[in-house]
Amino acid sequence: MKHTHDRLSILRVFLVLSLAAAACRAVIPDGGTLTPTPIMDVFTTPSPEAAPSSTAAQDDQPAAGAPTQTAAPTPQTGQPTRESGLPDPQLVNQYDIQAAIDFEALTFEGRQSVTYINTEDTALDALYFRLLPNGGSSYGDGSLEIEQAAVNGQAVSVERSEDGLIAAVPLSAPLQPGEQTQVELAFRGEVPREFGGGYGIYNFSDEVMTLAGWYPILAVFDADGWNLDPVSSIGDSVYSDIAYYQVSVQIPRDLLLVATGTVTETQENGDEITYTLESGPVRDFFMALSPIFERQSAEVDGITVNSYYLPGSERGGRKALEVAIDSLRIFNQQFGPYPYTELDIVQSPMRYAAGVEFPAIILIGDFLYDNPERDFFSIATSHEVAHQWWYNVVGNDVFDEPWLDEALTSYSSSLYYEFNFNPQSYQSLIDSWQFEYLEAARQGADDVVTQTLQHFEEKPNPGVYSVVVYTKGALFFHALREEIGDEAFFTGLQTYYDQYRFRTATTEDLLAVFEDAAGQELDPLFQEWLYSAQVPASLDERR
Ligand SMILES: [Zn+2]
Repeated sequence: MKHTHDRLSILRVFLVLSLAAAACRAVIPDGGTLTPTPIMDVFTTPSPEAAPSSTAAQDDQPAAGAPTQTAAPTPQTGQPTRESGLPDPQLVNQYDIQAAIDFEALTFEGRQSVTYINTEDTALDALYFRLLPNGGSSYGDGSLEIEQAAVNGQAVSVERSEDGLIAAVPLSAPLQPGEQTQVELAFRGEVPREFGGGYGIYNFSDEVMTLAGWYPILAVFDADGWNLDPVSSIGDSVYSDIAYYQVSVQIPRDLLLVATGTVTETQENGDEITYTLESGPVRDFFMALSPIFERQSAEVDGITVNSYYLPGSERGGRKALEVAIDSLRIFNQQFGPYPYTELDIVQSPMRYAAGVEFPAIILIGDFLYDNPERDFFSIATSHEVAHQWWYNVVGNDVFDEPWLDEALTSYSSSLYYEFNFNPQSYQSLIDSWQFEYLEAARQGADDVVTQTLQHFEEKPNPGVYSVVVYTKGALFFHALREEIGDEAFFTGLQTYYDQYRFRTATTEDLLAVFEDAAGQELDPLFQEWLYSAQVPASLDERR
């Protein structure tokens, strides 16, 4: 995308307004050194008074060799899943992918077979796939092309959008509600070197290859029809339904593979090795590869957490492991159980973003590992861990309602501070957010929290997205908790997680859950925090 570079350089200037680290959100590389306004002080404001709880990392675990075994209670048997709370595999799309990666040429080839089940109440005459690397922006200037396609064994021609982002696969007869069909696609991709203008999520830098969006992913059909939004220059671009994945990937044997999914089979063939992985119900399948990853691992609540880091970043690797372990423990208690058996944290070369979430695996920008004792490192890591609950397990339309996962994920970092340290640490973070938001509002950057990503992209000042969605949005959850009390608030969070796990929630769904939990109408609160571009009255008094 032509405008990408301009926009990103604008982001570097304006995103100093933002506090909570973000994923999906663009954040300037090092808040501590690019500080044109005092607002940036909030990056280091929350100072936990207690020492971080120490989680013993297991240094004795070897870093080499074995691929990670991320993920889930895999319902391989097709047994009924009601007891486990997992979606019935018969009702969920299934991807079977075989791929081979050329780590020298930075290319890959693959074939995928997707079993698609029409769970809508209308017949579909085509299926739409998104080829995210062609969308530019955060993915950079690489590519992903479909070379052949077949539906139920019959070759078909794929209709490709001009920018290459969308591939329409025609069906020979309309697919009726409840029916399923099988789409086979052969594809080929090229990975950018040194970011190619992107964030580093689909990239090769410093011997690390990251593969976000490396296969054609089904677009979502919802009440709006097919969602074919362009890749965003400021937010997330993966809006997808839950699916099960089986992925076989051939790579040079000296590489360590870190991925969504559990390795179920390993086959060596000369200098190459093929891993077969299976996932539980997830929204996406991400992989990172490198010959130089080192690892520390620990366990919490039966979940293995692996922290992968680059040589020389052992301190950061250990800190990332500690924060992730504590975050998992706290979020398991406060939201409901993390549904997979493993979580990986990967230090990765990144620009414009502090971290990015993927199912059962998160990336944290390598630059943050220079000073892992900064609060921003903990905020970023706990933020990405919280996305496992908000975005991955409970999905949302990240284009139409980006606040739904980002505001709640941002607020979740304050719960990490509260329950890992003390209520003063929580309050300190809330205070810094209030300061940041009020300062931004004073400068004219206020807006409506529930706006679409497109609305924020069209703003001349893209920093508004960050302060409104992440900061004001997080403050909404603080205000909601003050209004309805701890018991109703946490009951609401747990109900929301339980009721919408592996589904897609909307703003109305979330608000209805909290009104139920509180046993009262909350319209005035929602109105002033979520649907108004003014500073809420209760905060205004502090100005
Ligand atoms: Zn985020």
